[in-house]
Formats: sequence, structure tokens, C-alpha cells
Amino acid sequence: MILPGATLGLLGGGQLGRMFTIAARTMGYEVMVLDPDPESPAAVFATEHLCAPYSDAAALARLASRCAAVTTEFENVPATSLQSIAEHIPVRPSAENIHIARDRILEKKTIRDIGLDTVEYQVIQTESDLDHALQNISLPAILKTATLGYDGKGQIVISDAAELKKAYQQLGSTPCVLEQRIELACEISVVLARSICGHIETFNAAENRHHNGILDISIIPARVNAEVASSAERMARMLAEELDYCGVLAVEFFVDKDDRLMINEMAPRPHNSGHFTLDASLTDQFQQQVRTLCGYRPGKTDLTSSSVMVNILGDAWEEGNPAWNELLKNPGVFLHLYGKKEPRAGRKMGHFTCVGNTVDDLLNQAYTLKKIIPGHDNNLP
Ligand code: ADP
Ligand code: MG
Repeated sequence: MILPGATLGLLGGGQLGRMFTIAARTMGYEVMVLDPDPESPAAVFATEHLCAPYSDAAALARLASRCAAVTTEFENVPATSLQSIAEHIPVRPSAENIHIARDRILEKKTIRDIGLDTVEYQVIQTESDLDHALQNISLPAILKTATLGYDGKGQIVISDAAELKKAYQQLGSTPCVLEQRIELACEISVVLARSICGHIETFNAAENRHHNGILDISIIPARVNAEVASSAERMARMLAEELDYCGVLAVEFFVDKDDRLMINEMAPRPHNSGHFTLDASLTDQFQQQVRTLCGYRPGKTDLTSSSVMVNILGDAWEEGNPAWNELLKNPGVFLHLYGKKEPRAGRKMGHFTCVGNTVDDLLNQAYTLKKIIPGHDNNLP
């Protein structure tokens, strides 16, 4: 067990890292953040900010010598960096599991090998695989780069066979998957935490709505029937167990009109759709990350209230500062801002969560507030 007072290492200092750092410091740990961004949102709460590239040998050596264990807020840390730290101290989740989650080809194969369902897909390693892939996938399909895609980036919808080659080149002629594009009844996600000893706690499934490939709203509990929710939980647990996973794992699912559940992808870390846990759960997903990193069992995940989480993107600043007072004047609405200075379009700047009794009322409130906040109230921060 790693006791409070110890220093925890964090690779990546964005908003997820910021919320991990806050949780860790609240619990009495010191946090050392490695992030090349001098304005890293996590750094302001960290004990020490190593402002260097993720492959910087000196920074990695400092982390390995000063920290009791290391975790990560995103999956694109070079595998060699993770491995070099893991030679000295625990890295949780493991470098191997992070590697699986960062590569769609490996991820989908792993999920299928475990016996869990995914959409139909074909692996494309080189241009010569394109014809074969087309013969085995009916259109429309989505071409996705195997690595480095996020928030809908690195994806192109293919409606006509003639478009595929150009799309592949447009994505940089790198390894890809060609996925069947399915008609979704909805999307849900399950976030869980698993200790080094194998104890698992799952949060309630969230129902997720995306806009332009970016998560827009999460609704908790997801409005799916009880069997779908429990199957999703069972599948997420099975995945964590088969991977001998340690840490927080998010599993995204597609649900089709026949209630077929397919795993879309997994994230080896807390997830945007798990932000409701900050305001509507006994333990939140960042506390779970701290607990599992330090060798403890995950905390209890009872939902304290239904909730609707809304992302606030940089677009909300188009006409000046958003009207924060419209959010804050509601006792059941909780605002989280990530401390990013530049509100670029599509950039995740913060979120708010509406908590209360019925999901329908919360959804109405969320959509009303969402429309109101890009206001002109420049007197407020
Ligand atoms: P990212 O890494 O950007 O989250 P995803 O693979 O999760 O990439 O895709 C982003 C979103 O695009 C999904 O949440 C879903 O709404 C939509 N999408 C992706 N793949 C499919 C598919 N095969 N069929 C239908 N919709 C899809
Ligand atoms: Mg996704």
C-alpha cells in the first residue's frame, strides 16, 4: 500500500490529470506531473511540474526515482517511456494494457479474442489491404486510424467504394481499421476500477450523446433496459479481468435497435462520461484512480442522484465569457472549469452536471442551460 505523504507520478497534465491531481492532493499525496505544456491544467495543483517531452530521459528518471507509482491520463505516452519507468516503480495501468488501448487494431483483436462483441471490421495495414477490406464490409463504413485518434479525429466516413483509397491517403496511409457504420439506438459507457488484488467496482452505465464526434451530454443512469445495463457491466468486468487490469477503465459500447451490445473502444483511464461521479457518486472516478494506484480497493460507487453532464467547449466563448451565473444560481447544478486560457472551438474547457430526481427533468434543464450559457455576461470570470 502506498500511504498518504508519498509522491504519485502522472503522465499527462490535461483536465483528467488535473482532476486526478486534485483528488490525490485532497487525500494527502504529493503529485509530480510530466507534461510538455507550460500551461498544463494539472500543473497548478501539482507539487512539481516536469515541463518536458514524454520521452525526456531526465524527466523520466526523476519520476522513477521520486515517485512511489505512476499513472497516466492519456494513452499516447510512448511505450518506451512507460517501460523505462516500470523497471523501477509500479505503472498502473500496465504499459501493456495502455498499449492495447491506444491501438484500435490490437484493441479490437483483444476484445474479440476474449469472446466479446465489436462491430464488423477489417484491418488495413497497407494500401494493398483496401480491396480485400471492401469485399468484407458493406457500406457505409468508417475508416479510422489505428492510433492517435480522439474526439472523432482521424476518422472518415466511406459511403462509396471509390472514396476509400483517397480517404486512406488523407489519413496519412497509416494502419487503420475499416468499420461497419451501424445505426445506433444509443451509446453507453461503463467506467470501472479494479485493484491490484482484483476487486472491481463499476459505476452506473452512462448514456452518451455526441456532437461532431465529441461527447456532448452524458445521462445517468442510461435509459436502456436493465438487461442491457447489466450485460454492459458484465462485459466491462470481463474485459478488466481478462486483461488483469489495475486502475480505472472506461468501456464505450454501441447499442443497436435490437439491443445488441458491441464494444466500441476502451480508455485506460478516467473518462469524460464518468465526470458525473464527481457530483453524483459516493466515490468519484479520480479517487478510484488514486486508490487503485496506491494499492487500495476501489471505493463504493453508489449513485447518490440521477445526473446529466454537459461538456463546455471553447465554442461557448464565441460572444464573450459564458453566463456562468445562469449555471451557478441553480443549487442542483455543479460547474467544473479546467483552467484553460484559450477557448478554441471544439476544445474541452469544462463541464457542468445537473443532479436531481428524474432524468427527463434534468435533460430539460441541461438543454436549457446549454443554450443560455454562451451569453454576454462579461462581468463574471
Ligand atoms: P474517438 O476515439 O474519437 O472517441 P470513436 O471510435 O469512439 O472515436 O468514434 C466517435 C463517435 O463516432 C462514436 O462515439 C460514435 O458516435 C461514432 N461512431 C464511431 N464508429 C461508429 C460506427 N462503427 N458506427 C456508428 N457510429 C460510429
Ligand atoms: Mg470514443
